[in-house]
Order: sequence, then structure tokens, then C-alpha cells
Amino acid sequence: MRSESAATGLRCVDCQQSHELDYRLACEACGGLLEIQYELQRLTDEPLVQSRRTGVWRYAAWMPVHDAADFVTLGEQPSPLFPVPRLGAELGLRRLWIKFDGSNPTGTVKDRSSQTAVACARQFGFDTIGVVSTGNAASSIATYAARAGLRGLVCCYTQSTAAKMAHIAGVASDVIWYDGVYDDMIRHFDAAVDRRWFFDGGATRNPYKQEGKKSIALETYEQLGRAPDLMVYPVGMGETLLASQRGWAALAATGRIEKPPRPVSAQSTEANTIAEAWRSGDDLRAKTIGYTVAEGTAVGDMGAKGRLTLRRIREQDGLAGDVPDQETLDMQRRLAQVEGLWVGPTGAVPLAVTARLAQEGLIDPDAEIVCISSETGLKGDWPPLGVEGQKPSLDLIRRTLDGVSNK
Ligand SMILES: *Cc1c(COP(=O)(O)O)cnc(C)c1O
Ligand SMILES: [Zn+2]
Repeated sequence: MRSESAATGLRCVDCQQSHELDYRLACEACGGLLEIQYELQRLTDEPLVQSRRTGVWRYAAWMPVHDAADFVTLGEQPSPLFPVPRLGAELGLRRLWIKFDGSNPTGTVKDRSSQTAVACARQFGFDTIGVVSTGNAASSIATYAARAGLRGLVCCYTQSTAAKMAHIAGVASDVIWYDGVYDDMIRHFDAAVDRRWFFDGGATRNPYKQEGKKSIALETYEQLGRAPDLMVYPVGMGETLLASQRGWAALAATGRIEKPPRPVSAQSTEANTIAEAWRSGDDLRAKTIGYTVAEGTAVGDMGAKGRLTLRRIREQDGLAGDVPDQETLDMQRRLAQVEGLWVGPTGAVPLAVTARLAQEGLIDPDAEIVCISSETGLKGDWPPLGVEGQKPSLDLIRRTLDGVSNK
């Protein structure tokens, strides 16, 4: 039977050694990260999209799953790509777009990688998949695992929002609520992965898991008909940036575009390791982090993935920036009021960083820019608003319309 996938092997990003397409998390020769290789001729000759399929499986040949019986889906549609001209005018940017990944089934970009992670867990014969998370990956992996009939062991920190924690508690077969931050739990998780207690749905090493996030580039190309000048990504472990830029590179290698967009890394100042290294020109240095509202970026030690992210940004003439939480929250509110898009704080970080880089003169006002808004605002935590009810009357409506608005 012909494979659904055009994947041919694994290759080390450091020493270039090739490996078979088996469940393998590191290079045998040097311990480096692995990336999946594809048969370019097939990707060139076949149509990009299989329109009768949903989610990342619309691009099945570009994904690492051989048998359609292992695909898992919750009816995903391509996330919308919105022009945001009013916000762009405020920022002095003439060609600004938002790709709104809050439209995914569990409300975040994680649903792209969860599709390939859970399908690959099946492909390699595992009955359990695990992940460490600040909330979004846990709810997404747990959801797709349940959909596929697998056990999902999800580790989530207790600083997550009530909405995310309730979702996880509702859907996960096995939950660990951990104290501390992501960096504290991941070491122990990776030790369990090494013992093969479950399929690695974590972000440290697995080359198969992140592959679904390539679909960000493929969808954007379909929607725009070209590559933008810049793609701005929220960066936690760097998967979204790395995988999407791999997608763009393959679109270039198959002759569909001339060259990939320049990648821009967007982080919270609390966890700004890529931005610091990019600005100083030094190596990546881990840092001990505390809380940030941009939970998806709350990683202080990105390890090998971080070094690769920085390397790709430098190779592809990219940029990096960071913003304090207050700027993130201001941008979240502005985007909602001016364009009607209610995104979570992490989803506002790319725009807030874009605004900053533009202000610093690092972004051309005429550049075509796509910002990834990676989560819905509906999974956030909001303190009780403490509003006081008013006595209903016609006069109340008239006075409100006359400009005593509640903004
Ligand atoms: C996980 C996450 C990110 C960042 O993801 P990486 O791919 O690990 O860099 C961005 N936004 C949201 C909402 C996330 O949950
Ligand atoms: Zn190697």
C-alpha cells in the first residue's frame, strides 16, 4: 500500500547523519536533534491540498504518518487569516495580518502538533502519550488522546487559568498538577520518556510531534497565495517557529515560493532568552523565570530546541523581541476593540513585539507581516468585574449612546 506520507527518513540538525523513520528522539552519533526528511519530487508533483480531509491531514504527504487509519481529527478547519487595517494604521504598518489560531478545537495552536503527536503515538504502537504543560498543551493532548482512544498523561502547573485547568480535569485520563514552572517538571518527564513509559508528546526532542505545526505555513500560503515578508511567532520551546519555517522552506524547495519569510521570535520579557541572545549576538543563555501572563512563552530553559531556534533565526535573517506583560495586555485589549479579535495574552505577544520592533525602526512600514495569534481569549482568567447594575430605562439607553460609554 502506498504511504500517505512522503517522509523518507530522519536527519540530525548538527552532524547531518541519516536515520531510519522509527521512534527515535536523538541522533545516534552526536545526540543532536532530528528533523524529518521528505521526498521533494512527490511534494512537488502532487497537489498541496487534499480537500476532502480536515486539519493537518489536508497536507497528508507533508506529515509523518503513513496510514490514514492512524489520523486523528476533531474537524479542524484552516485558521482564518485576517487583515487588520485599523490596528495596522495605528502602528504605522500598511500590510498587517493576523492568523487566528484561537479557532482550533481546543482554542490554541497546540492542536496542530497534537494531531501529529497522537497519530504518531498510534503509528509506533503506544497506548499512552504524555506532555508537560502550562495549560494549553495539556488540554490539547488530553483531548486528542481521548478522541483517539489513548491514555493521556498530562502534567500541568497550578498557576494555569481556571478555564484551562477545568478543561484538563474534564478531559484527561491521567493528570499531574505540579508546583513550580515548566522547567522544573520537564527534566523528570524526559527521564520517564527515556524509560519508554509513554510516547513523548513533549516539546524537548520528538521530531514527529511538532510536524503538525508546519501546517501554519501551508495554510498561510494557501490563503495569501505567496509568502509574506515576515512571520511573527510566539516562542515557548520554539516549535511553532521551527516547524512553520520548515513548511516555508519546503514550499520554496518545491518551487511554490521564491524564499521563506523572515522569522520573528516574540517572547515575554520574563522569558526572553532568544531576544537577549539575538540582541547581544551571544549564545543562548537559560534563565530562571517567574510568572508571566503570556503562559505559552513561559520557558526559561529551551535547551537544544532553543539553540536551533536561534540558529534558524540567524540563518534566515530573522528578528527577535520581547515585551513586558503590561504591553501584552494593552495590545490584547486594543486588538479586541479595534478589530474584534479576542485573543489570549500569549496570542497578543507577537503583535506587541511587532509594534515595538516597528517603533525601533527594525521593521519596514511596507513589509507584509503575518502575526500568529496562537490562542483564544476565552481560556483566560478574569477577576470578577465588580460592575454595579443600573435600573433599566429608555433614558439609560439614550445616555449611553450619547457618549458616556463604558470603555
Ligand atoms: C505553546 C504555545 C506557544 C509557543 O509554542 P512553541 O511552539 O513551544 O514555541 C504559543 N502560544 C500558545 C498559546 C501556546 O500554548
Ligand atoms: Zn548528529
